[in-house]
Amino acid sequence: MRRTPRMEKLEDLLRSSQLVAGGFLGHDTRPIEEIIEADAAALEHLGVSPADLAGRMKDLAARARAGLGSFVPVDATLQVACDDNRGLLICPWGDGTRHNKTVTTARRTDTGKTVRWSDLSAHLIGCHGFFQGRGSPFRIEPADLVEVIL
Ligand SMILES: [Zn+2]
Repeated sequence: MRRTPRMEKLEDLLRSSQLVAGGFLGHDTRPIEEIIEADAAALEHLGVSPADLAGRMKDLAARARAGLGSFVPVDATLQVACDDNRGLLICPWGDGTRHNKTVTTARRTDTGKTVRWSDLSAHLIGCHGFFQGRGSPFRIEPADLVEVIL
């Protein structure tokens, strides 16, 4: 696939630590188009759309805020909490959006399985289909996310 200079620039930015420590790609050497395609296929296999997933993440993040750092029950087996980190992160796609550094943790009380994401991660998944690279601190496997929050 021929790449546009814009895509090259975006990938350089995602690999750098310019926006977040360690960058967004971790030790993943795949081009971002490939990362996005693989995760889109995994999500499709699970029968979930990125928009639905991101909508649920945003909803859970809002509920978590009410707990002021403590876990809040969502239903019989799901709890959410948030760490309110001050500051904003800008979307690396250059769409001009800014996102709180707040990190939400979702925990299943039946399996003990946990996933966490920042407000930016929810935006990256919903608007850009980007779950981040393997080895990135905020990489989330689509299957894990679906298993815990849906
Ligand atoms: Zn964006």
